[in-house]
Amino acid sequence: MALLTDKNIEVVAPAGNIEKLQFAIHYGAHAVYFGGQQFNLRATTKNFSVEDIEKAVSYAHNHQVKAIFLLNAFLHETDIQPVKEYIRVIKHIPFDAIMVSDPGMALLLQEADSTCKLHLSTQMSTLNHLAIQFWQKHGIARIVLARETTLDEIKMIRDYTNCELEIFCHGALCIAYSGRCLLSRYLTGRDANQGNCAHPCRWNYSLVEEKRPGNHLDIAQYNGTEILSSKDLCLIQRINEYIQAGVDAFKIEGRMKSLYYVANTVRIYRHAIDCYNNGIDSSHYKNFWTNELDLVSHRPYTDDLFHEFANQPFEGVPYIKKALFMGYCTESDAQKSIIKTFNPIYKGDNLDIIYPITNNSIRDTGAIVMDIEVDGKKCEMAQPNTYATVVFDKPVDRWAIVRKRL
Ligand code: SF4
Repeated sequence: MALLTDKNIEVVAPAGNIEKLQFAIHYGAHAVYFGGQQFNLRATTKNFSVEDIEKAVSYAHNHQVKAIFLLNAFLHETDIQPVKEYIRVIKHIPFDAIMVSDPGMALLLQEADSTCKLHLSTQMSTLNHLAIQFWQKHGIARIVLARETTLDEIKMIRDYTNCELEIFCHGALCIAYSGRCLLSRYLTGRDANQGNCAHPCRWNYSLVEEKRPGNHLDIAQYNGTEILSSKDLCLIQRINEYIQAGVDAFKIEGRMKSLYYVANTVRIYRHAIDCYNNGIDSSHYKNFWTNELDLVSHRPYTDDLFHEFANQPFEGVPYIKKALFMGYCTESDAQKSIIKTFNPIYKGDNLDIIYPITNNSIRDTGAIVMDIEVDGKKCEMAQPNTYATVVFDKPVDRWAIVRKRL
């Protein structure tokens, strides 16, 4: 069947560690993005070491998936020498692209003769085609548009440029313009612009009268007090509109989120894009997509940053969790499966089993736990963080994800 678009529309997936990267790839990502231990907007020692980065890139390439490396921190003067050193250390790694925010970082990469394509982060707030022309002249191949860009503006931008355009399609938003915010640094000393946001905008606040310290008075509001928190973004029902507007790549937020979140969101957006590309009528999949995205932890969804609460009163922004990630299958035969557990699994549990969606085939099913064995001993329950041999009432295959409805 002829493709409806001659472009390869990409799902770009977060990879907080190697395990998440593997699941992002097996669940349908065209590209994965991840950072090292320095100079990215989630900089922690839990990120990829240089050795991990090499393994991640070769794993992605062995599966024909692009590897995008994040060097998107904003640089202080004192960062420049350490960045030069870090670039020297990673320069040999064949990334498909490096994501930058700071023009200084782009310059340092170019001066180091990096031949890698450069992508520009959403944090540079690119909202118009002239800004795009400027960045193209400075060697940027893809722009992640500011999340404040509307659908109509994307269409107008596309009329003027053939530059690769990427947008965020799913995940946490925040009330700060393009994520530039001092709230976290001010309240906790953790700087959002160095990838270390403590998310104080999501907290519930109380009131304290200055002469009565410790006497916390609840701010009572019927629908919740997360008055600074935005909803989460979810564009699944509008993905065709954004493809037609000229978007080349759809990015999912969430390097800190679970493997299950990554896998499930990736497969749903990949399915939506595959349906579009192959001219498949997706109307009867739309409920399935919405239901699945409702089963990953999230805040109430919005498909419009500027009209989250339009025409409706504030309804609170509570965290919603309707399913628990129990584990995934590392190997299996017709009788039993080895499950790496993330939550306790009990004999008799009735669990959901989800799989990657390939060739428009959805294999999801339910399965009952008939028997559990850990370290060669039968037991009633498998603890989290173990490899349990589980007999289900039907075969559960490698790469299956196991979850429990709450
Ligand atoms: S504190 Fe909230 S608004 Fe500020 S950067 Fe963090 S998530 Fe965004």
